[in-house]
Amino acid sequence: MISMRALSHILALLVALGAAVASGQRPIWASEAAPAAKAPLVFSARIVGDESRTRFVADMTGAIDVSVFTLSDPYRIIVDIPEVRFGLDSEAGVDGRGLFTAFRYGQISPGKSRIVLDLSGPVKVDKAFVIPPADNQPARLVIDVVATSRDEFLTVEKAYRDTRRVEEAARRDRAITAPPARDSGKFTVVLDPGHGGIDTGAKGRNGSVEKEITLAFAEILGKKLEASGRYNVFFTRTDDRFVALGDRVEIARDHGADLFVSIHANTFRGRSIRGTIVYTVSEGASDAMANEIAASENEADALAGLDIAAENSDEVLDILFDLTRRETRNFEMVFAQNLVRELRQSTSMFKVPHQQAGFKVLKAHDFPSAMIELGFVSNAEDEKQLLSQAWREKVSDSIARAIDTYFEKQLAQRSVQ
Ligand SMILES: [Zn+2]
Repeated sequence: MISMRALSHILALLVALGAAVASGQRPIWASEAAPAAKAPLVFSARIVGDESRTRFVADMTGAIDVSVFTLSDPYRIIVDIPEVRFGLDSEAGVDGRGLFTAFRYGQISPGKSRIVLDLSGPVKVDKAFVIPPADNQPARLVIDVVATSRDEFLTVEKAYRDTRRVEEAARRDRAITAPPARDSGKFTVVLDPGHGGIDTGAKGRNGSVEKEITLAFAEILGKKLEASGRYNVFFTRTDDRFVALGDRVEIARDHGADLFVSIHANTFRGRSIRGTIVYTVSEGASDAMANEIAASENEADALAGLDIAAENSDEVLDILFDLTRRETRNFEMVFAQNLVRELRQSTSMFKVPHQQAGFKVLKAHDFPSAMIELGFVSNAEDEKQLLSQAWREKVSDSIARAIDTYFEKQLAQRSVQ
C-alpha cells in the first residue's frame, strides 16, 4: 500500500526529472554527444525570489531538454542538460539569493553539461522546465524551489538513488573490457591534470584558474616525456571536461599505468604561504594543513554533483590488496623523494616539501601515484610563476628528470632479479 504522501514525493521527483521523460524522449543521460559548435549558448543566468520561493533562470539561444535531481550533505540541485556553451561573466554564480547560496556550471562529460545549484537547506523542486524561444525572446530554463523538511528532501533523494543504482549496475556490466596491449620496453606514465569542466579548482588572486594551469602544465610535461622515447604517456583529460576522481584512477588502470602523476595548484587562507609540495597518499594526514588540502581536493566530485554516497564501496577489497599496496606505497616514497630533490633545483619548495594525506585520486594500490601541488594561486608570486612559460619549462624538466631516475632504478632492480 503506497501512501498519498509517498506518492506525492514520487510525483514531485518525476516532475523534477523533467521535460525529457515527460515528453516521451529518452532521458538526457542516454543521449548522444552533440557537436559543440551547434550547442546553444547560455548567455545570462540569475536568481530571483526570496527564502520562501526562489527561482533560477538561465537564458539561452536554443531550447534544450533538462533533467533535475537533488543530493544532500551538502544540499544541492543537479541540473543536467545537453552540451551547451557557457558565455556567463566570471562573477556568475558566486553570490546566492533566497534558497540558493551559489551555482557552478560546465561540461560534465562529452555531450553533456551540468549546472549545480548550492542550497541553504532542504528544498523541494517545484518546477523545472524550458520555455522554447519565441517572439525575439530567448529560450529560458527555469528551476523553482520551495523550502521543505530534511525528511522530505531525503525521501526524494532516496527514490532517485534507487533508480540510479539499477542503471549503474547495468552500465558496469557493459563496461568490462580487456586490458590494452602494452608497448613492450616502455613504461606507461599517466598524467592527471586536476579538475576540469564544471569543477574549476582553486581560483587565484588575479583571476587564474587551477583547471587551466594544470592542463597547460600537464601538456608540457607530457610532450617532454613522449619526446624522450622512453614512455607511453596518457592523460586523464586533454580538454576542459570534468572527470570524477575514481574515473581518473580507472583511466590510469585501463592504460596499465606504471606511474600516476596528478598535477594541481594549491590555495590556502594565508596569502604569504607559497611553494611546491609533493603529496602521497596515507590514511592519516601529515598535519592539519595537509588534511585540509586533501579534503578540498576530494570535494571535486561533490562540487560537480556526483552521487558520492553510492561509491566508497571498495574498503573490504583493500585487505586483499595489502601486500601489493605496501609495495606500491614504498615505490611512491622513492618517487616522492626524487621529485623533491629535482624540484628543489628549479623552484622554491614549501618548508615541508613532501606531505601525506588521504587523497582519493592517489588511492590506487596497484601502481604508484603522487600529486604535485605546483604552487599556491592564493599567493601573488606563486600565481605569477604558475602562469609563466619559462617557469613551467624548468619545473617540468625537473619532474621529467625525477621520473627518469625513478624508472632507471626500477630497471636496475629488474635486471638484478
Ligand atoms: Zn586541485
